[in-house]
Amino acid sequence: MEAPRLANSHLTLGFDRQTGALAQLRFKNRNFIAPILGKRPLVELNFRDASGEALRVSSTDFPPPRFVARDGSMEIEFDAWDSLRVRVTISIALAEDSDESFWRIETEHGREGYLEWIEFPRVVVPNDLGAVGGDARLLWPALEGVLIEDLAHREKSPLPYQEIEYPNHGWCGYYPGAAAFQFLTYESGGSILYFGSHDPRYTTKEIEYCRDDDGIRLIQKVYLDAGPAGKHELAYPVVLAAMEGDWYAAAGRYRRWSESVNSAIRISERTDLPPWIHDSPIVVTYPVTGHGHHSGKTDPNEFFPFIRALPVLEKLGDALDSRLLVLLMHWEGTAPWAPPYVWPPRGGETGLREFADSLHSRNHLLGLYCSGTAWTNTADTGDGTYNRTAEFKRDHLIRYMCRGPRGEYRCKICNGEGIRLGYDICPATDFARDVMAGEANKIAASGIDYIQLFDQNLGCAAYQCHDTAHGHSAAPGAWGAPAMRGLLAHVRASLNASGAPHVLLGCEAAAAEPYLHDLPINDLRFHMGFCMGRPVPAYSYLFHEYGCNFMGNQVEALMSIDEKASPWNLALRLAHSFIAGDLLAIVLNGKGELHWSWCTKWEVPPPPQEPHLAFIRRLNAWRRGAGSPFLCGGRMLSPAQVAGAECVPLAIRWGLQLDYSAVLTSHWQSQAGAQAHFLVNFLDRPQRIRMALGGHDEACVITQPSGSDMANIPVREGCLELDISGLSAVMIRT
Ligand SMILES: [Zn+2]
Repeated sequence: MEAPRLANSHLTLGFDRQTGALAQLRFKNRNFIAPILGKRPLVELNFRDASGEALRVSSTDFPPPRFVARDGSMEIEFDAWDSLRVRVTISIALAEDSDESFWRIETEHGREGYLEWIEFPRVVVPNDLGAVGGDARLLWPALEGVLIEDLAHREKSPLPYQEIEYPNHGWCGYYPGAAAFQFLTYESGGSILYFGSHDPRYTTKEIEYCRDDDGIRLIQKVYLDAGPAGKHELAYPVVLAAMEGDWYAAAGRYRRWSESVNSAIRISERTDLPPWIHDSPIVVTYPVTGHGHHSGKTDPNEFFPFIRALPVLEKLGDALDSRLLVLLMHWEGTAPWAPPYVWPPRGGETGLREFADSLHSRNHLLGLYCSGTAWTNTADTGDGTYNRTAEFKRDHLIRYMCRGPRGEYRCKICNGEGIRLGYDICPATDFARDVMAGEANKIAASGIDYIQLFDQNLGCAAYQCHDTAHGHSAAPGAWGAPAMRGLLAHVRASLNASGAPHVLLGCEAAAAEPYLHDLPINDLRFHMGFCMGRPVPAYSYLFHEYGCNFMGNQVEALMSIDEKASPWNLALRLAHSFIAGDLLAIVLNGKGELHWSWCTKWEVPPPPQEPHLAFIRRLNAWRRGAGSPFLCGGRMLSPAQVAGAECVPLAIRWGLQLDYSAVLTSHWQSQAGAQAHFLVNFLDRPQRIRMALGGHDEACVITQPSGSDMANIPVREGCLELDISGLSAVMIRT
């Protein structure tokens, strides 16, 4: 008997008759789905009983499904009411002229407890990645976007895939959070599979990938607000589509949908932001206690009292010819990494105020790191004696903490011996709102311009909580994003009311989709993507117009990168940030020298100073000059193909390498509609490149950031040939 199928002139979807598994998604001559070798479900459900214990139910546990084909649609009905008290109906719509299939699911259960999450549909693609001789690659939406070309890369790293469970483990595909958007792709042979959740409520999800018996499993797992017995219909469609092109084409599809539902306002149109956000300050970050590594006791260092850093900063400001946003770490008078209480600053408020005034008088800015919505009972940082255990017990504060499904309280992110012991505070509680607003107000009153208030809330994630006493459901779901937005709105309103509307807030990693408007400047974490694969500017492509993020403190960049084998790696990271349109950032060591990253020990030899500083100065001159309308608030377009530059291997510590062209490129459109390409050479020697510019007879090449040296160069047979000096950028207008 022929396998059930649903097809139009673009796509063919095929299913296994016995299990309902997705066996085929054919676009042109390519089937994107791996052959079924093992036992593949179409859907998996996770129930929890009254005590919180999990029961995993797979559609392969059901009797063979019933297929009902209609014109342009298919229903697949799974019925295990008699054995499991569960029914599932999946509906797939495929309009005749569309390359998108829309998938919906309705579940009905009569079980005790609740339905916690659904993974739907199970998509398994072949492992034809470059590392095993194929040409395929995945785009993963965490850490601003990572291209996956080798499954072993992440499996060998210190951050292998693990299923997301309470408590959250941080560097993973938790959405909205470290994963900022809701689609995955698999591309091969010039065409691409798009697997997106078009969910305007930004419901909590796991969006991941991992090795599967048959290939690579692409995971879209959605949490359901603790679905009780009865019927539940997913409120949005999951979209499986295929098209020609690469991940930019897929991102364009997602951007069209995202912009149709997101209420964030473009930076260029906002009147509520301070003018400095358009001045392209360079972020300079360093700790004022400790020696570049955060665990254990932290004594004042070379940068304390705060004012002692001024000579170093003045010199840097001159060398970089830029405004600086000085962003302090380990400044808290409580203890570093001991949230939520940070105030007063070490040494008292007067010293920090004096420092802020001194920076402002030199046209620089001051920001502070905080540590997000967590609670600290004891901290090993600072003098090692910080202890709020008695207050925690006395006020029964455990009732405000994120609780696990079995009534347990645990915390993993920046929590443990050497740092702190505590919990995550549930963002839905009044306690979270009051304490976060209270600390923010105290900070703002000292003349601070920027508070990275939500460090450790990656992407400003609302972490999982199962405590209904907080006013939300008994499991993660659609409540997370509104709870966090409510918290952000409360802090914002409180700052505005206290006369600090100009103070901006940010989080660690790029702000996830629901938080774009509230968090316009954030501490990026693209470099953590080197633990999984190749970072790409997918976040910038989607959302750059709505924010002004910075390169980040590059925490633990040398965990993945071997700086001795690839001494140009910092220049590569700077070039990546530049072509992504992000503010540049510098991390200092105790001598006031540019260092590799935060958490690189200060005894590690720093990178060569002068070439890197000169590179940063040149790049920021573009951001402040002729590149400004594009790199600051512009809209990213698909880049032109660039070939010919030297290829260099970035050495990854667990024995792998990522080959990089010495010239990175991006393509932008200004809000006025002009277009420009940027090319940046991160090596210290010239590169001759060939750039595909079909449809143009000539291109305007600009090598000076002032824009003063425009030269029209002929484009021959659709190709522009160009020399690019070492450690420099050029701009091309067409
Ligand atoms: Zn809660």
